[in-house]
Amino acid sequence: MCGEGNAMKDAIGKTKRWIMLAVIVGAVCALAGTATSFYCKYCGAKFSSVASLTASSCMRHPNGPGKGRHALYEGSEKLSYTCKYCGRKASDIRSLTSSKCMRHPDGPCKGWHEPAL
Ligand SMILES: [Zn+2]
Ligand SMILES: [Zn+2]
Repeated sequence: MCGEGNAMKDAIGKTKRWIMLAVIVGAVCALAGTATSFYCKYCGAKFSSVASLTASSCMRHPNGPGKGRHALYEGSEKLSYTCKYCGRKASDIRSLTSSKCMRHPDGPCKGWHEPAL
């Protein structure tokens, strides 16, 4: 019954290839997903396009709430974001920028943390 054994091996080989393919497709989809998300560097708001991001006013704008529009965060999407002034870390831009920075260039607590690129 050698033939049967080979057929089994073939089937396992095919399954492995399908799993590999699924993993690759999944990774590509994940990359494509991140490429279409844009974040405001002041408040962490998420947008599907730069045009919509820069079209609405930002409640955490350095000039004051609603005194300017969202600005594009030009860094890559990360597992954790670090404030470029003080080094504070947060898992997303929204939570990083939700508190005032003790080492802000305008003075202690004169502005919010800002994510490093
Ligand atoms: Zn914003
Ligand atoms: Zn900071």
